[in-house]
Amino acid sequence: MKYLSYSILGFFSLSTLFSFGQHQSHTSSFEKCATYNQEELFKLEHPELVEEIEASEQALENFTALYDASEENQRSQNSALYVIPVVFHILHMNGDENISDDQVYDAIRIINEDYNARNSDLSEVINDFQSIIGNGNIEFRLAQIDPNGNPTNGIDRIQSNETYVGDDGSKLNQWSPDSYLNIWVSAVIGSGAAAYAYLPSTANVYPDIDGIICLNTYVGSIGTSSESGKHTLSHEIGHYLNLAHPWGPTNQPGVSSNCNTDDGVSDTPNTIGTSGSCNLAQVSCGSLDNIQNFMDYSSCDRMFTQGQINRMYATLNSNTADRIALWQNTNLVETGVADLSEADFRLVKPFICQLDTAEFEDQSKFGASSWNWSFEYGNPTTSTDQYPQIFYNTAGVHDVSLTASNSSSTVSTTKTNYILVNPIIGHYTPYVENFSTTSALPNDEWLGYNPYGDDYAFVFDASSGYDNDGCIKMENFGNTFNTEDELYSTTFDLSPLTTGEFTFKYAFAQTSTSGSDALYLFASMDCGETWYPRWSKSGSSLATVSDQNSSWAPSSTSDWESATIYLNNSYLSEKTMFKFVFESEGGNNLYLDDINITGTFSDIAVLEYPENGMTNRPEDVVLQWKASGGINSYEYQLDVSSNFDSPSLETGIKNWISYDPNNSDTEYETSNLINGQTYFWRVRYNINGVAQSWSDTWSFTVVEEGGVGIDEWSEENLHLSVFPNPTNEKTTLRLNLPQSVTAQVTVFDIYGSVAEEQSTVQLVQGTNYVTINSDEYAAGVYIVRVSIGSSQYTKRLVVY
Ligand SMILES: [Zn+2]
Repeated sequence: MKYLSYSILGFFSLSTLFSFGQHQSHTSSFEKCATYNQEELFKLEHPELVEEIEASEQALENFTALYDASEENQRSQNSALYVIPVVFHILHMNGDENISDDQVYDAIRIINEDYNARNSDLSEVINDFQSIIGNGNIEFRLAQIDPNGNPTNGIDRIQSNETYVGDDGSKLNQWSPDSYLNIWVSAVIGSGAAAYAYLPSTANVYPDIDGIICLNTYVGSIGTSSESGKHTLSHEIGHYLNLAHPWGPTNQPGVSSNCNTDDGVSDTPNTIGTSGSCNLAQVSCGSLDNIQNFMDYSSCDRMFTQGQINRMYATLNSNTADRIALWQNTNLVETGVADLSEADFRLVKPFICQLDTAEFEDQSKFGASSWNWSFEYGNPTTSTDQYPQIFYNTAGVHDVSLTASNSSSTVSTTKTNYILVNPIIGHYTPYVENFSTTSALPNDEWLGYNPYGDDYAFVFDASSGYDNDGCIKMENFGNTFNTEDELYSTTFDLSPLTTGEFTFKYAFAQTSTSGSDALYLFASMDCGETWYPRWSKSGSSLATVSDQNSSWAPSSTSDWESATIYLNNSYLSEKTMFKFVFESEGGNNLYLDDINITGTFSDIAVLEYPENGMTNRPEDVVLQWKASGGINSYEYQLDVSSNFDSPSLETGIKNWISYDPNNSDTEYETSNLINGQTYFWRVRYNINGVAQSWSDTWSFTVVEEGGVGIDEWSEENLHLSVFPNPTNEKTTLRLNLPQSVTAQVTVFDIYGSVAEEQSTVQLVQGTNYVTINSDEYAAGVYIVRVSIGSSQYTKRLVVY
């Protein structure tokens, strides 16, 4: 809301100056942002500059008012992409605050989504504000050339105690602020907030403080950060480009007097602001508040308005703090972000599970305008999206290739064995891995993950193993930073066990100067969503030999030690996964070998397929149960009666072959079952001539091909998704079907008008993709409806 003149804004910033002493008492509680408190503190410390700063504010405000009405602004809104070179200075003392390269890349991804109206949570913006969502068309690129003309990845690691201070004095090694956006990352922010920036008018007068300083726990969404604070940097960049909080220029939301102050933006509703909550119905100054605004303090910040984007465009076209210099082509060339020089990509998560979707992220440097991907075993196998989401139903490690182009160049890259797709029913036990037949990492069962992208990583070593054959080596000698490396396993099916045991051998040397290098083992029962620590050792208790001051490898079996980790019932899932995490503190190399997973099999058989209660099974369904060990045979029963006493009872014996579930001893193919009939089945073991107890009894219902029963399909089972979403181009509806059907796909706008109708769509068993021509729709919210038989399934789609 813009209804106060600039001079009144000036008055309020003076009033906050006078009451600063009171506000300091508020800073003991945690705040999202301390920009205005810092502004006022700076003015208290530099009274001689106050007049100049306020004149600079006034000049930028006048420029913004003129720019709002200008033709340049129209051009900005219609065409120009603003590119801004960025450097992250990681202030650290070798603790967790020394965040990984991947966490920085994740932060850049999120900022770029937010400033291009591409953030997935934008679809949650309530209808009242959909029409004023602003698309910044501003792209942040990690600098590739530093101020001395040397190559850089745009991440500047600085070991300094200033990480525990986190104020203006901590802004070490600032790169020229008229060429780079400087972002410092620290362990502590002195004022107690998550982050703060300076407004361009203050930075204009005192450039040494220009930039953003942010707690490491609010940078990106991975590593030390989390989803909840992931938009913090987008908020701070808003200040850096002269946005105020929606309630005005203070750090105190929720105060009734905020109805009298303003943010200088015409389309943001007047508000008192909110803090840490998400009341979408909040009305504080007579109209509905836009609490989903990135510049508010709510817990559900999702959007900029068009007015806020215009205000940032004005700043980017002004000489104030030289913001206009940042995006000029000469600067983009000098900072190494102008040309398409390298095709590159990363995975948002380093592995996925079978039947899951992998999110790929283009990281080509820079300015590609078209992309051609190919995905081995992916579905689809090709894509022209910048951020493709690919479904995998084949487990293993698969290759990914990308060719990126623009009008002047084409660059390509292939990453072999790049994505690990773990089976949803994992590898059977006993699992014995002595790496004697392994030839490389990653492979189908092990993936090293190097989140810092440095020279120190988990690799395959062909000759240093316990038996002088292969093993896994963590290359660590010479690694001076406190970096973390991970080694992920495939999934294991531990469900037939009553107790489990994970054993491995390790060998490690410290150096005479090393600290507490640590090795951790974690387990996950949900294919890597959540992890539980199971074992750790560090420093001298991890060392298996005396200190070694040159790059070391074990030379005899006595250099190794063994570890045994017991896995109780809660770890015995169908898709239990393990990861080793190594934290370096300057020690020597670490080796891992003889990773075995064993356990005690239950006396009671475990059924696998068809899952209990399934319908729509064919009359020749294959009954499958889990392989066991230490038994002589399996006995199965199949009947129309759950008492297994009807005349149609089928029964049989399968002699045990091996632990491998792919043998025929753990399955029975039915035939000539009756359409529409429900069947019951169970299995038991015979151990040394003694029949054990029966398993649970499971049932399934037979339906001939093409029969009904579709009502049983849930949206979740169909894996129904629409991507990309939100979108301004064509989008794809994906669904997974247990059988071939004819369907109808219809897209409605929120008023119920049909935007697109595809009257009959023939869908096949397995994964289907239906293109939706959303590039032809007006911006807004749509409902995609799939009708199959009498059932309807819907997904929300946002077009911008
Ligand atoms: Zn703020």
